[in-house]
Amino acid sequence: MPDPQPVLQHNLDQIEEKIRTACAVSGRSRDEVQLIPVTKYAQLEWVKALVNLGYHHLGESRPQQLLQRSEMFPANIKWHMIGQLQRNKVRKLIPATSLIHSVDSMKLLTAIERITQEENLEREEQLKPEVLLQVNVSGEESKQGFTPEELRVNWEAVQSLQATKVVGLMTMAPKVEEIEQSRPCFASLRELREELNQASSNLKLKHLSMGMSRDFRIAVEEGATLIRIGSLLFSGLKESEPE
Ligand SMILES: *Cc1c(COP(=O)(O)O)cnc(C)c1O
Repeated sequence: MPDPQPVLQHNLDQIEEKIRTACAVSGRSRDEVQLIPVTKYAQLEWVKALVNLGYHHLGESRPQQLLQRSEMFPANIKWHMIGQLQRNKVRKLIPATSLIHSVDSMKLLTAIERITQEENLEREEQLKPEVLLQVNVSGEESKQGFTPEELRVNWEAVQSLQATKVVGLMTMAPKVEEIEQSRPCFASLRELREELNQASSNLKLKHLSMGMSRDFRIAVEEGATLIRIGSLLFSGLKESEPE
């Protein structure tokens, strides 16, 4: 198999340039934005190449693959759970995950809290899961996530969590013809973060996880702190894949 590193480096350079331009356009500093490579469709060799290139935060969307890979890599590689999460996977996933981007309901959030507290009774080193709340900004029926109204209604309960650290919001833009049309969705998430931070006494939402291969430039311009990029990063590698 050919060495994936040159292709990855080339793609990363192009992505980096776009991030820098988006930061410059919006008056942001480059170090406010972290690229999280999404490795859900990546071969193991590609993931290893990314790690060699210095990327230590990686996103996976399926718990099974995240768990498998987290065992294969040393502890300094941090795994981000970005896909839909079932409550029965939470107990296994929490110790392996650095940030869960996809907490999409109070049911899931309270399950994470309860399970963490149970686990911590038995652990010397206490688990303190960090999570983002996934918001369905556009209100599409088919989309996962809290509606902004659900978040407002439950904000007291979110703030009263003891074990779980809510550190930000995540969204996925609706399907649009022109990427520019995703801007209002990203801007709304930023405004919602500000609104919730104002309504908080002790909790501070730091992160906005938004922007994927297609629309990350717009997301960065609108304040993304974490961008989740998969297909663009690996483009040019699929062709060489064996049957
Ligand atoms: C797959 C996935 C991504 C990456 O998508 P690309 O379009 O391949 O960059 C980002 N976020 C989530 C939640 C995903 O499932």
